[in-house]
Amino acid sequence: MTSEGMRGQLFVMLGASGVGKGTLREQLLAQIPMFYSVSMTTREQRPGEIDGVHYHFRTRAEFENELEQGAGFLEHAEFVGNLYGTPRAPVEVALNRGENVMLEIEVLGAIQVAQNSPHAILMFIAPPSLSELERRLRGRATESEERIQKRLLRATEEIRAARQFRYIVVNDTLEQGLLDLVAIVQAEGLKSERWSGDALEGILRS
Ligand code: ADP
Ligand code: 5GP
Repeated sequence: MTSEGMRGQLFVMLGASGVGKGTLREQLLAQIPMFYSVSMTTREQRPGEIDGVHYHFRTRAEFENELEQGAGFLEHAEFVGNLYGTPRAPVEVALNRGENVMLEIEVLGAIQVAQNSPHAILMFIAPPSLSELERRLRGRATESEERIQKRLLRATEEIRAARQFRYIVVNDTLEQGLLDLVAIVQAEGLKSERWSGDALEGILRS
């Protein structure tokens, strides 16, 4: 029972491509509903991906035009040859409605969010090992060999950067990874700073 009319909390899941962010996020949001921010990207659509659901797919010219003239991005970054970014407006609208928001992004974008939104809660998802990360990336079968190698190289840099974020969750088993994320989201929602004096007075009045 926190106070009415309070702004939502901004959660960010970040970590290497293939580590299991998408899988964990789906399960987390099934347990704890929040607004999921759909990113914009210039990457080509994979089979099964739906425009507007998994990503807003754009050409590079369209994305660059958005960067120059559009409503703005909370963050954006180049990742292995493609642009990715978080449209600002839907996130702000959800936060102002009091809804919690989840972003799922890579490290350079997360650093921008940390700088621009000091209250954002950043959760770095680490693999149990680099060899397991490689196995998962290959198992997903979405990338060419060249792109797997580029993503693994990027992963090494990302894991070295992990300690600057608030939390590190190792996605070894999905069960434990999910338990850890649920614990973080719940604890962050219980922080005393989320309470107003009025809400506490409400306890005294009832
Ligand atoms: P990301 O969104 O970080 O790129 P995905 O969620 O697409 O990663 O997961 C990459 C692959 O790894 C998928 O095939 C997924 O089923 C698998 N995976 C995710 N988490 C685990 C886990 N804890 N153990 C084994 N496989 C996993
Ligand atoms: P993929 O091509 O595998 O969908 O995503 C590649 C990487 O880009 C992943 O680490 C993914 O989390 C990240 N990503 C997805 N959307 C965004 C975004 O809006 N901004 C940033 N900075 N990274 C993103």
